Amino acid sequence: MKVLGLETSCDETGIAIYDTENGLLAHKIYSQIAQHAEYGGVVPELASRDHVRKTLPLIDEVLQEAGMAKNQLDAIAYTSGPGLVGALMAGATIGRSLAYALSIPALGVHHMEGHLLAPMLEESQPEMPFVALLVSGGHTQLVRVDGIGEYRLLGQSLDDAAGEAFDKAAKMIGLPYPGGPQIAALAKQGNPQSGLKFPRPMTDRPGLDFSFSGLKTAFLTAIHAALDEERCDEQFKADAALAFETAVVDTLVIKCRRALEAEGLKQLIIAGGVSANLRLRDQLEKQLRKINGRVFYARPEFCTDNGAMIAYAGAQRLMNGQSSGLSLSIRARWPLSELPSIKAS
Ligand code: ATP
Ligand code: MG
Ligand code: FE
Repeated sequence: MKVLGLETSCDETGIAIYDTENGLLAHKIYSQIAQHAEYGGVVPELASRDHVRKTLPLIDEVLQEAGMAKNQLDAIAYTSGPGLVGALMAGATIGRSLAYALSIPALGVHHMEGHLLAPMLEESQPEMPFVALLVSGGHTQLVRVDGIGEYRLLGQSLDDAAGEAFDKAAKMIGLPYPGGPQIAALAKQGNPQSGLKFPRPMTDRPGLDFSFSGLKTAFLTAIHAALDEERCDEQFKADAALAFETAVVDTLVIKCRRALEAEGLKQLIIAGGVSANLRLRDQLEKQLRKINGRVFYARPEFCTDNGAMIAYAGAQRLMNGQSSGLSLSIRARWPLSELPSIKAS
């Protein structure tokens, strides 16, 4: 089954074709980051309009790359939530209409299920059950995965998402959006012996929830103190970036180990934009080796938003006979646990 995947939930137009027999055939990502940069964040109306402009031309490019004609597609999967309503509507309308014109099924896909399954596009894959750490711009969640659509939330952030914390910290020291890769790059110049240390929130008590808003405040306080004392130079910023990245990564690693232990599992998937972070990958590899476990993740371009993950997640459900019918239903908010198991269909 050849599935066209459309991702338009935020500021990336991601288009891909996944073939259940031959794997990923083609994919393209167009990022709107430059358009939103001057506003310091994503402007929803601009995002929707740009998805409208870019989706059809990108579908043509992806078909060409795969050497296929439209009528060789078997189904279309589009992101139907969670995300920005206008942006979701753009992809859903195009996906649904195209499927209607081609007389093939269409399916609305959960954006976070897309992220969660993205590591399955890689060569080495875990077997279910496993624990998933979803770490993106809008989510920080630990989930037990027993099958497609069999998700149990183990813990989540009570305030900011990990990616959001990176983005806000970056902004505080004048770095552009998205802040995660910027902080990570600057941290390379940081001195681990600088003496700067930020808290590992909520790790000193039991539980699998997270909180990153206090860490962000601690970062701001350190920057203000350095500014007051006129020592907020490039080296100080790099030291602060390193201390911040280390604090976020340590916190995530501690909770992942705890979740695996609680569930009696040894396989971990990390997904979402922050799973591209090399320090996080490295620390998890080290920690999991100690318990004879393994960590799985997607290539960097499939950690952040992309069409391949939507084509893949959609294909798993479409293969099972699920589809969304003719009416369009998109959801700005949508808990992962509400998804049906594919076993039920
Ligand atoms: P959601 O998926 O929750 O709706 P989103 O789609 O905006 O949110 P993603 O595209 O998955 O989020 O990820 C973007 C986030 O990942 C940003 O917050 C960005 O700073 C962060 N990020 C990307 N690369 C890295 C990195 N190397 N280190 C840390 N954070 C990173
Ligand atoms: Mg994005
Ligand atoms: Fe995302």
